[in-house]
Amino acid sequence: MRDIRHFVNGEAVAGTSGRFGDVFNPNSGEVQARVALAAAGELDAAVQAAVKAQHRWSAVNPQRRARVMFEFKRLVEANMNTLAELLSSEHGKVIADSKGDIQRGLEVIEFACGVPHVLKGEYTEGAGPGIDVYSMRQPLGVVAGITPFNFPAMIPMWMFGVAIAVGNTFILKPSEKDPSVPVRLAELFMEAGAAAGLDVTGVLNVVHGDKAAVDAILTHPDIKAVSFVGSSDIAQYVYATGTAHGKRIQAMGGAKNHGVILPDADMDQTVKDLVGAAFGSAGERCMALPVAVPVGKKTADELRERLLVEIETLKVGVSTDAAAQYGPVVSAQHRAKIADYIRIGQEEGAELVVDGRDFALQGYEKGFFIGPTLFDHVKPGMKTYQEEIFGPVLQLVRAETFEEAVALPSQHQYGNGVAIFTRNGRAAREFAARVNVGMVGINVPIPVPVAYHTFGGWKRSAFGDTNQHGMEGVKFFTKVKTVTARWPEGVSEDSAFVIPTMK
Ligand code: NAD
Repeated sequence: MRDIRHFVNGEAVAGTSGRFGDVFNPNSGEVQARVALAAAGELDAAVQAAVKAQHRWSAVNPQRRARVMFEFKRLVEANMNTLAELLSSEHGKVIADSKGDIQRGLEVIEFACGVPHVLKGEYTEGAGPGIDVYSMRQPLGVVAGITPFNFPAMIPMWMFGVAIAVGNTFILKPSEKDPSVPVRLAELFMEAGAAAGLDVTGVLNVVHGDKAAVDAILTHPDIKAVSFVGSSDIAQYVYATGTAHGKRIQAMGGAKNHGVILPDADMDQTVKDLVGAAFGSAGERCMALPVAVPVGKKTADELRERLLVEIETLKVGVSTDAAAQYGPVVSAQHRAKIADYIRIGQEEGAELVVDGRDFALQGYEKGFFIGPTLFDHVKPGMKTYQEEIFGPVLQLVRAETFEEAVALPSQHQYGNGVAIFTRNGRAAREFAARVNVGMVGINVPIPVPVAYHTFGGWKRSAFGDTNQHGMEGVKFFTKVKTVTARWPEGVSEDSAFVIPTMK
C-alpha cells in the first residue's frame, strides 16, 4: 500500500500519530493509498519550520518572490498531464476537468506573479507642513489553508499563491480524500525556488489530517490567519474557533446556486449551459447550478423537454475516458448521501423525472458512479431544495414571475453563485443589482470570477469579511502599516497636549 506523507521543511515526512485515512480510486472503488493523519505535535513541527523560514522569505524582495511564482507556473504547466491524471485518480473528475482545476489555480499564480505591483502602498506628499504619510503592506507571518476535496489543485493555489507571494510562509491542510496533488504542488514549489536561485525550504508545508489537524491549526499561537473552504457547518466552526483564538479567518462554505431562465432566453444555449453546470464534475462544485428556475409554464415545459433530450445523451464514464462528460463521485459514502437525497425528494413530493441511482458501468460495478438525475416541481419548503446535495441532481423550481425568481435565490440560506439567462439587458441588470447572492452570471452558468477579481459568496456560503484571491486575497494575507513622517524646518515646537489635527 502506497503511503502519502506530509511535506515539511522541504521533505516528505512519515506520519507518527499512528492514524491513517484511506484514499480511494473512485472509478474502481478500491483503496489505492493511505494518507497520514497528523496529530498536534506533527502540525507544530511544520509550524516551527514555517516560522524559521518566514524571516528569510519575507526579506526576499517582492520581485524575486515573483520570479519563484513564474518558475512555479512554468513547472506546473510542464507537469500538467501527470498532475491531472493524479488528480482524476483520487477525485474521480475527468482528465479535462482536472486540467481545468489546475489551470484555474495557475491563473491565481499568474496574479501572484504581479506581487510587486499589488504590494505598493499609498503615499501622500505634504499631508501637513513637512509631513508625508505613506503606508505599506506587510505579511502576517505563518498562515494556513484548509481545503476541500472538490478542487485539490485550484483552491490550495488560490490560497498559497497569494499568501506566499506577499511574504508569508504557509501550512496547507488539504482534504484527506485526495491529498496527492497538493503534495506534488509543494514539491514543485521547492524546485521553483531552486530554479529561481532561492532557498524556499519551509515556505510551503503540507500537513495531512482530519479534525485533529484542523483543531491544532485553529489553536496554534504561531498561526496568524486561516483560510478555509469546505461545507458550511465546518466553515462556521472554523470561523468561530479561529477568531476566538485571535486569528484572522475567511471561511467559505456550501452552496445551492440557482439558474433563472426568463422566457426570452436563448433556449438552445441555456439548456447546454445548464446541463454542463449541473452535471459537470458530477455536480461536485460549489459553483455548480443544481437549481433551475424557469419563469412561466411555457418556459418550464420547454426547458424540461429539452433537458430530457440532453440528459439522454450524457456520457458518464471512468475519469480517464476522454469521451465521458463526468466520472464517479468521490466516495461510497458521498454516493449514498446523494442517493438518500433522491429518495427524500421523491418522498416529499417532487416529481422524479430521471433517476440516476441505478446507473452502473460495466466492469466498474464497485465504482462510485451515479447517473444524471432530474426533479421537476420542487418546492421551496422541501428539504432537498433547502440543503446542498453536491451531486449530479438538477431540480426544477417553477416560478410564475420575475419577482418570484429573484426572491428564490435571495431567500435561500446559501448565497454563493446565481445565473440569469435572458436577452433582456434591463431585466438582467435589475436582477444582478437586487439578488442577495455574492457572484452573479448573466448568460454565464458558472460565474467564477477571474483571478484578479475576487471569489466569495454571501450568507451561509462564507463566514468572514474578505474574499479569496484578487486584492481581497492580498488584504487578507497582509496587514497595513501607516507611517506619518515629519521633517520640520527651523525651531522645534512646544509639546502638544491635544490630538494633532491638520489646520
Ligand atoms: P468538508 O467541509 O467535509 O471538508 C473541508 C475541510 O475541512 C477538509 O480539509 C476536511 O479535512 C476538514 N474537515 C472535515 N470535517 C471536519 C471537522 N469535523 N472539523 C474540522 N475540520 C473538518 O468539505 P468537502 O466535502 O471536502 O468539500 C465539499 C464542500 O465544500 C461543499 O459543501 C462545497 O460547496 C464546499 N465548497 C465551497 C467552496 C466555496 O468557495 N464556497 C468551494 C469548494 C467547495
